[in-house]
Amino acid sequence: AIRLDAVRKQFGDTVALHDITLDAAPGSLVVLLGPSGCGKSTLLRVLAGLEEATGGTVHLGGRDVTGLPPAARGISMVFQSYALFPHLTVAENILFGLRARKVARAERDARLARTAAMMGLDKLLERRPGQLSGGQQQRVALARAIVAEAPVCLMDEPLSNLDAKLRAEMRHEIRSLQQRLGLTMVYVTHDQVEAMSMADQVVLMRDGRIEQDATPAELYARPATAFAAGFIGTPP
Ligand code: ATP
Ligand code: MG
Repeated sequence: AIRLDAVRKQFGDTVALHDITLDAAPGSLVVLLGPSGCGKSTLLRVLAGLEEATGGTVHLGGRDVTGLPPAARGISMVFQSYALFPHLTVAENILFGLRARKVARAERDARLARTAAMMGLDKLLERRPGQLSGGQQQRVALARAIVAEAPVCLMDEPLSNLDAKLRAEMRHEIRSLQQRLGLTMVYVTHDQVEAMSMADQVVLMRDGRIEQDATPAELYARPATAFAAGFIGTPP
């Protein structure tokens, strides 16, 4: 469903991505893993169309989307900061994108009910983000991405503000949701435990390049380089 071919990104003299070539199967969860500054967010932003690649092509769902704006790509996104609107209710936050896209009211109401039930938010729809816990806010951000019903969902360190227990719960929730809905998901993290427990495919990055692209089991069994072995460590 996702194909990057020789994608390059430069910021002035800084090469953030060196000719990245990558394939992701439909309905799979791909984790972009690697240390700070290796290019994970840049790669996600290029996929989303928030950042224009300096070179190369991006295909989503068999369609060449290189140069298309985010709204034309069939994607939804969740950011690290959640980026909820503090003055809107939970329901309004979840439906914000659908309103902008002029989805009919009956359809919006049906999707809201379905998604809120799925994410355990039914009782919280009239609250504002300031009246929710961190995990509940995170669920609202996820619900907003899910309700768009986009085939590809992009997540950039969506759990980084949460404590360890909630992180473990939420990553399980995200994974089962992704499988249930058959979404293709690209999930950015620098936490190898998170990567190894969620992914179908792990793309380990270093200095704007792919160090290794493999299943979690392959990465454990056969790390390709000393860097990969060191970064992955031993199974928990
Ligand atoms: P982190 O784990 O800290 O979020 P990351 O892997 O997401 O790191 P990126 O944000 O993709 O890393 O950054 C990759 C490289 O590109 C870094 O060297 C960064 O300084 C540089 N970079 C990113 N955005 C810009 C920008 N807008 N202008 C200039 N350089 C940038
Ligand atoms: Mg980042």
